[in-house]
Amino acid sequence: MKYKGSCHCEAIQFEFESEEINTALQCNCSICIRKNAIMSKQTFAPSEFQVLKGYENLSTYHWGDHDVNHYFCKTCGIYPFHDTSYEPGKYRVNLGCVSNLEPGELNIVSFDGRNEL
Ligand SMILES: [Zn+2]
Repeated sequence: MKYKGSCHCEAIQFEFESEEINTALQCNCSICIRKNAIMSKQTFAPSEFQVLKGYENLSTYHWGDHDVNHYFCKTCGIYPFHDTSYEPGKYRVNLGCVSNLEPGELNIVSFDGRNEL
């Protein structure tokens, strides 16, 4: 299936190819618990994922070991996806940013990032 998504102000728009999404991931590490984002369980390869618009409107937040690129929109502050410095371009998506998807209806798997990261 093709999914489309955007940040809140729609400066950043993206699409990705995925099997139907019915499971999601929620992490309790110090940054995810603050965002409270429901994320895709899978990461998408560069061949499956495209930023259609607004790449230049993304800013990146790093903390700790700088392994994760926490992107956010410079205008509305929303986190649409992230990747890692060891697998650049392989994005995990904030499912709240995806059109026609109701994150609350997904089967949410908890990831204990607080202790495992
Ligand atoms: Zn925005």
